[in-house]
Amino acid sequence: MGKIAQLDEWLSNRIAAGEVVERPASVVKELVENAIDAQSTVIEIDVEEAGLQKIHVIDNGTGIEADDVELAFSRHATSKIKNEHDLFRIRSLGFRGEALPSIASVARVEIVTSTGEGPGIKAIIEGGKWLSHETAPSRKGTEMTVTDLFFNTPARLKYMKSIHTELGNITDVVNRLALAHPEVSIRLRHGGKMLLQTNGNGDVRQVLAAIYGVNIAKKMIPIHAETLDFELNGYIALPEITRASRNYISTMVNGRFIKNYPLAKAILEGYHTLLPIGRYPIALLSVRMDPVLVDANVHPAKLEVRLSKEKELCQIISETIKAAFKKQELIPTGMIRA
Ligand code: ADP
Ligand code: MG
Repeated sequence: MGKIAQLDEWLSNRIAAGEVVERPASVVKELVENAIDAQSTVIEIDVEEAGLQKIHVIDNGTGIEADDVELAFSRHATSKIKNEHDLFRIRSLGFRGEALPSIASVARVEIVTSTGEGPGIKAIIEGGKWLSHETAPSRKGTEMTVTDLFFNTPARLKYMKSIHTELGNITDVVNRLALAHPEVSIRLRHGGKMLLQTNGNGDVRQVLAAIYGVNIAKKMIPIHAETLDFELNGYIALPEITRASRNYISTMVNGRFIKNYPLAKAILEGYHTLLPIGRYPIALLSVRMDPVLVDANVHPAKLEVRLSKEKELCQIISETIKAAFKKQELIPTGMIRA
């Protein structure tokens, strides 16, 4: 007999879970992204002990049809793409069908979901096993309760940092999703304490105010540019407001936050010499481009994407920021090369 065998589903789930569900913040991210993909207008997130004890997300989205609930927790089951062709024009935040099975394989998950037509479903899945499945009231939307995260992966649990750090990761994730989706009202509470509340009226500046405070939001100027390939929108803080780390530079492409060194660098280049050495701005940049030019399928957490025409895009970013500051009369005209 040969040495190679296919992992059974339970084991491969736990391995994939290690990539998708690294920490409580990853669970929050996946659940909130699912809620956004489901066209929710209100999403409420409650976490206890930085999510290690409990993560509760309730949305008013489409819900999952009763017959589909079990499928939603199977690997590679998704309603968001149908074939390879779709993979190259992704418009949703999710597409791999891995989050729910991964989360359910390393935690206890209770789901209550309904499409609003007919009765809903309530199910409990623990460590990948179905414990119960019953009908539930038909409130349109989905409610997910994740407890005992990493109960069966002690190595992963040990790897968790302090409550403070894990909570910081959760707020980062939720803040970013709120910035990317000002049209959704998002509320985050930790141990009952309100950490973020956005009103869902579509105004990015109000989300910035909810996150950074009104005084900083007032000192962020809007930027906008359009070319054949790209549409840029964003808010950049006046150079008098700086931070000691790059973490306040947020970039997103087609509504998805990404880590992209060249884009962040292009933003810094836009600030030119306006920033003191070792200080970084608060900036939010949103790029819209043809999904065909974006390959989102290169990173398990989808944090990195491959962009076609990246150089061209970076140049437009730097120029747009320089022009915005020039308009503010922060840069003497002579300092900008044509
Ligand atoms: P993906 O988001 O990549 O499709 P997931 O494992 O996160 O994979 O979810 C599987 C499927 O379950 C989704 O494609 C979607 O149809 C459904 N689903 C998950 N969460 C929600 C939700 N909050 N509201 C409606 N449908 C959901
Ligand atoms: Mg998903």
